[in-house]
Amino acid sequence: MTRFAPAPTGYLHVGHVLNAIYVWGIARATGARVVLRIEDHDRQRSRPEYERALVEDLAWLGFEPDEHARQSDRRAVYEDALARLRAEGLTYACDCTRRQIAGVKPAAGELRYNGRCRDRMLDERSGRGVRVRINPGEEVFDDLLRGPQAQIPAEQAGDILLRDRHGLWTYQFAATVDDFAQDITHVIRGDDLLESTGRQIQLARLLGRAAPPAFLHHPLIMKSPTQKVSKSDADTGIRDLRAEGWSARRVIGFTAALAGLIDAPRDLDVADLAAVVVQ
Ligand code: GLU
Repeated sequence: MTRFAPAPTGYLHVGHVLNAIYVWGIARATGARVVLRIEDHDRQRSRPEYERALVEDLAWLGFEPDEHARQSDRRAVYEDALARLRAEGLTYACDCTRRQIAGVKPAAGELRYNGRCRDRMLDERSGRGVRVRINPGEEVFDDLLRGPQAQIPAEQAGDILLRDRHGLWTYQFAATVDDFAQDITHVIRGDDLLESTGRQIQLARLLGRAAPPAFLHHPLIMKSPTQKVSKSDADTGIRDLRAEGWSARRVIGFTAALAGLIDAPRDLDVADLAAVVVQ
């Protein structure tokens, strides 16, 4: 099983299409199924109309998921996973505000939690987040595209926030729980999430996952080298292209060429993608 996991915070654009090319291409090449997982954990920015539009645009392109899931429907699954970590004494409540954490932000790199609440034994209650204690060790994995990787989650980000002070499940927790619960064998995503992988491998292990999934992180489309498509670049919306008369096959072929997967744009459909991504 693999997954396509968009956040419904905007319309489908060529960046999503590139991810879908990899996801469906690898699914076709390996016989895996695809779950369309709507990652609407960000309750402020997620909107039902974006979700409807994402589903419609994917269908127009010919990317048919085998299953559908929505994170906001899966609260009980996250509660269970949290209860399991709590029962093992791995979690603690945290009342640090973002500002307090930001105060210790390193000059470069991501925000690292300094463990201020680790031994304070605070009760879990509203207004407090929940974190998991992570181990100091290194996590290694073989990225299917980028080769061997080594990360030290404790040094990168510190103890992982599972639920925030407003009671919202975090991306790291919800995605890791779902990848385990949905039997995801291949996590295929853009390389902006590469740095999250070590901590997700460790978190999955703490949740009881025996073997991590395989990971593939592909380059993102940063900019369209041709200005012909649209004035906006990475946000090139599929709806705009469709309104301009583009066919679905042309959008897919254009995106594959933009990412360097094929030498020059040509029409492609989903059935062609296994050969495009697995060379
Ligand atoms: N929902 C995330 C995003 O839209 C993807 C998460 C993932 O693939 O792990 O960037």
